[in-house]
Amino acid sequence: MSWTSVIGQQRALTALRRTISADRIAHAWLFYGPEGVGKRAAAIAYGKALLCDRGGEEECSACCVKVDRMVHPDLHLLMPHPSDADPADVAERIRLVGQNPYAAVDFVRRPSLDDPSRSSNKQALYTVARVQEDMCRAMSFQAVEGGYKVAIVSDAEYLRTDAANMFLKMLEEPPPKTVFILATSRPDRILPTILSRCRRLRFDPLPPEVIAQALVEREGVDPASAATLARMADGSYAAGIDLAQNEDLRALRALVLEFARAAYTRNVGAITDIVERIGRFGRDRVGHVLELLLRWIRDLMLYRTMGEAAPLVNVDQTRAIADFVAALPRADVEAMASVIEEAIRLVRGNVHVSLTLTVLAGALGEAMRGPHSGALYMPLSDAYGGKDASLGRTG
Ligand SMILES: [Zn+2]
Repeated sequence: MSWTSVIGQQRALTALRRTISADRIAHAWLFYGPEGVGKRAAAIAYGKALLCDRGGEEECSACCVKVDRMVHPDLHLLMPHPSDADPADVAERIRLVGQNPYAAVDFVRRPSLDDPSRSSNKQALYTVARVQEDMCRAMSFQAVEGGYKVAIVSDAEYLRTDAANMFLKMLEEPPPKTVFILATSRPDRILPTILSRCRRLRFDPLPPEVIAQALVEREGVDPASAATLARMADGSYAAGIDLAQNEDLRALRALVLEFARAAYTRNVGAITDIVERIGRFGRDRVGHVLELLLRWIRDLMLYRTMGEAAPLVNVDQTRAIADFVAALPRADVEAMASVIEEAIRLVRGNVHVSLTLTVLAGALGEAMRGPHSGALYMPLSDAYGGKDASLGRTG
């Protein structure tokens, strides 16, 4: 069962299985690729295979069960967490990962397990103290069951420089029979000195039909909804689960379309109202929602060039997208994408969320109206007796 708990990713799994059959186990791995595509699921399956004398080809009733419950003494799953996190909360999240390795139950994406909309003031990260305790100390002991010791470092880009350097020392002289698996969607944020010591394995976005099938089989979603959600999930099974389970998220998506409409019409009252409503979802959700808006804009670009044949992410929005493209032939779609990317960067930093959204509404509206927007030059146009005041402007 263990390898089959991973959805898709056959190329990566084949590479991992080969290391076991050939007995060529790297002591440090970097699993990288987009969020929610199965890096952590594959890391757990690989850990299980390394710990069990059946090599993961079938489940045993001893060690494999311990891994599923996340209580195996030689397998450590680490996740970045705020310095004041309750240890019981950490333990509960790790247990939930054991149940479903695709569940978004980490502190980075979900500061509170009870209230998915709540955001945290404290940043989730790996501190020096935690690296010392949970990695260096835990991994320097002999394996309790006599085989390998495995540490899975999820969201490894959250290793701060000092913590990363401490980890690096361990990587330079790894204790025997230890395997570290770093999982990240941001390999660009990993110290080059760490990268150079890891064997790298890429995880690709999942095809929509693979996500749809898994949503039907694992989450009990009906096939028609699963097909729609799978397209919206943009290669990420975790995003598919999130969309399937979270009505809030679907409501937010509708709110974002309203936001874009208000930005276009420069309806200040509506913008203020929508910004306030979006802001209530918290910084993390807002970042997520802006990502959704960016995907929608990318759909616009695709639809503009390919029409009905475009492989849209927001397939259920085809009509709205077609309407938008027809209604705004002059919209500068590339500029729209770049102002949203900038807003995502600001929101993920520490810039005030409402302020960022309000500024975004202005810039987005401009881009939507396009470089030759009549609306932009209307006052001048009036002054020239209705002639096109943008005359003389080219490009
Ligand atoms: Zn086993």
